[in-house]
Amino acid sequence: MPIRVVIIGAGAAGLFAAYELCQLKKLEIKIVEEGPDVDKRNCASKEHAVCLKCDPCRMLCGVGGAGAYSSGLLNLDPHIGGDLAELAGSEQRAQKLIEKIDSIFLKHGAPQEVFYPNEEKIAEIQRLAGSVGIRFIPVRQRLIGTENAPKIIKSIQEYLEKKGVQFLLNQRVIEITPNTVKLQNGNEIQFDFCLAAPGRSGMHWLATQMEKLKVETKYLPVDIGVRVEVPAFIMDHICQFERDPKFHIFTTTYDDFVRSFCTNHRGYVVQEVYDDGTVAVNGHSFITEKSQNTNFALLVRVALTHPLEDTSAYGKSIVQACTTLGGGKPLVQRLGDIKRGRRSTEEKIKKNIIQPTLKNTTAGDISMAFPHRILTDILEAIERLDRVIPGIESNNTLLYAPEIKYSAKQIVTNEHLETSIENLFVAGDGAGQTRGIIGAAVSGMIAAHGIIQKVA
Ligand SMILES: Cc1cc2nc3c(=O)[nH]c(=O)nc-3n(C[C@H](O)[C@H](O)[C@H](O)COP(=O)(O)OP(=O)(O)OC[C@H]3O[C@@H](n4cnc5c(N)ncnc54)[C@H](O)[C@@H]3O)c2cc1C
Repeated sequence: MPIRVVIIGAGAAGLFAAYELCQLKKLEIKIVEEGPDVDKRNCASKEHAVCLKCDPCRMLCGVGGAGAYSSGLLNLDPHIGGDLAELAGSEQRAQKLIEKIDSIFLKHGAPQEVFYPNEEKIAEIQRLAGSVGIRFIPVRQRLIGTENAPKIIKSIQEYLEKKGVQFLLNQRVIEITPNTVKLQNGNEIQFDFCLAAPGRSGMHWLATQMEKLKVETKYLPVDIGVRVEVPAFIMDHICQFERDPKFHIFTTTYDDFVRSFCTNHRGYVVQEVYDDGTVAVNGHSFITEKSQNTNFALLVRVALTHPLEDTSAYGKSIVQACTTLGGGKPLVQRLGDIKRGRRSTEEKIKKNIIQPTLKNTTAGDISMAFPHRILTDILEAIERLDRVIPGIESNNTLLYAPEIKYSAKQIVTNEHLETSIENLFVAGDGAGQTRGIIGAAVSGMIAAHGIIQKVA
């Protein structure tokens, strides 16, 4: 009898777990994915079979998960995308897993080029950043590019299928029990091992399932802020060797943690639409198609304690306020207007030197939707960043709101990512273990190794 493994979700965590597991012949591996094949992830407007440009498409699920239509920026560093050293038990193991994942991406067609500043550049930026109390974290990065990501995912899927992994697509798991998963279509799959990796789109569902099974869960902080858009030439000098420069800032007034995140050099701001109708923004970039602008997120970390520990509910209330004020669209505002306490108008945006790459927005007033503390944190962070990257604090700089990174409730596990239910493992962003493609893939591999150890 083969040993039956069911993986929920074909995102980075699920796919890379399967990559490890399929090397073991005695396993029968099924990946259940509620979305379609990567090349059938239809545009919501039904205009194109594979949409790389339509904003709502990016939130659709399918093989490759949330990363399939992202820029696919791979952060090859154990300190980014979650604490991967802690997750893996040591920095050395985390780095080894990262190298392995990177080599798999390369084997399946990822571009060869790696971005990393030389020692001289690192020292120069660290000196500038340090002089205004900012920490610059140099990170090795590989950019897959939005146009390449689906081809690479397809190649990985085909490899797994050749190795006998079965993909059950367009099938949603509605319930996990200690030895079965129940599908929406009424079918049940028996398993010996289950790995739940449903990503952010499935995080609330996963937390509910875990609570039902009496597996302990914990709230994590939420990251909320804006996406900043500037003319590309302002950041060219830094992005040419560090695609996504990471800056960490503790603000003066509140001593809050603010970080720059997900820089898209000559990229585009895009809209995220959640299933409750609220909207937010994100960003992406192509390798071939370039815009005149560069965008990055500036996010404030918010952790809460008793009586309201639910950071998602708090974050959602801010996203809801933005959505209401924007009439169902994200808000956009000139930095000059926000500093003078005025709303931006369509006319002002039309006249603005920097033209927005995301058009489907409402010119408005972010300060009407954001708590004073979060707005103060963002304005202070921009003021300081301007000393490291001169030109960021221009009146013409565009701020889009909200940008939010909801954190999943962290599922409590052992070091192999096995929950208190025997043989039930979790991995990826949906389990609150990681934030990013590499991190999710690392966690998938750790869970896979946990399963392999148990069957060996
Ligand atoms: C627009 C955008 C840009 C991004 N850019 C980057 C980037 O450049 N670099 C980076 O490192 N990260 C990026 N990220 C984040 C990255 O995509 C995620 O961190 C990563 O995909 C997480 O992997 P995962 O496997 O945990 O979950 P996911 O990739 O979300 O995959 C989970 C899968 O599970 C499926 N699923 C959920 N619930 C169920 C269920 N009940 N039954 C069956 N299937 C289910 C979903 O359909 C989904 O396909 C980006 C994200 C977005 C949205």
